[in-house]
Amino acid sequence: MSATGILLCAGSSSRMGFDKLNTPLCGKTAIERSMDALIEGGCDSIVFVVSGASEKTVSALSCPVPFTVVQGGKERTDSVRNGLTVASGEIAVIHDAARCFVQPALVSACIEAAKEFGSGVAAIPVTDTVMRIEGIGSETLDRSKLFRMQTPQAFRLDQILTAYASGGTATDDATLYAKAFGAPHIVLGSEDNRKLTAEADWTWARERLEGPLFGIGFDTHRLVEGRKLILGGVEIPFEKGLLGHSDADVLLHAIMDAILGCLKLGDIGKLFPDTDERYRGISSRVLLAHVNELVQKRDMVVRHIDATVICQRPKLAPYRNEIERTIAADLGISPDAVSVKATTTEGMNDEGKGLCISAQAIASVGHR
Ligand code: MG
Repeated sequence: MSATGILLCAGSSSRMGFDKLNTPLCGKTAIERSMDALIEGGCDSIVFVVSGASEKTVSALSCPVPFTVVQGGKERTDSVRNGLTVASGEIAVIHDAARCFVQPALVSACIEAAKEFGSGVAAIPVTDTVMRIEGIGSETLDRSKLFRMQTPQAFRLDQILTAYASGGTATDDATLYAKAFGAPHIVLGSEDNRKLTAEADWTWARERLEGPLFGIGFDTHRLVEGRKLILGGVEIPFEKGLLGHSDADVLLHAIMDAILGCLKLGDIGKLFPDTDERYRGISSRVLLAHVNELVQKRDMVVRHIDATVICQRPKLAPYRNEIERTIAADLGISPDAVSVKATTTEGMNDEGKGLCISAQAIASVGHR
């Protein structure tokens, strides 16, 4: 039995404020991801139901199976009907392109169920208590009979065409099928098969594909007399301090470069040039706050910092906790997410001879 995937790419993207179907996620649009899953799951032809921007996206795809492109209608029901009209397989697998993390195994399970029972629709049993709130008639529904419907929803093509021919609109196809033929056969869906609807769904999707981003930073400043020693925003009693245009906080400088590296935003030399008088003597904590704002503007957050200060003297162990707490507070994250270590170079190198202090850092940044 052949199966045609009816891929609905005509949905409005207004709820997310941008185009969720046509904006690439790690190089692939939701439409392409859904298409791949349908084909891998057993669809041997595809009908793309498009409108506006999705028509362009679909025309740029290389679809490895026979396909047709049709225009979407006013409502979802109209779009599906347009797709079903040109479907050629004995099974129709209707799928919302916005559920682009659908597993091919779920697609095949729906197809197999449709072959055996006439229908196979992805759904998840409701585990929360569900109430119908309606004044005096309010009631708690029997959740053992409740399901959250997803797609794919697969049907024998002749049956779903009959169901659609009887008219009516619905938010999914199982509703129309049930009116004509009774309860559809449920296939257990998955939480991962999530519909990208709200901005939070998009952030979830990016994290799922990209994971956190990482960056490294390194800096060195000369130790001289007549300057305060500031490390990680904390003033440390010592006979010398670090030389620099700002407060020369070598640890924060390495950390800022690590954070900037996560997002490919360049380095602090580019952002805060030492030729700029505005930054003379400035606390590096002010600069760190600015870097953190750049992260937040991208709807991201610093997840973790690990840093090593390379320094012969003074001993930094007594200040470690305060430094970690100060950095965490400036970034608005937990002190558990900031690790600062110190090492000597056993008297070797310029750090070991007390000529300078260096610092290296790694940062990770993730979606909020
Ligand atoms: Mg520096």
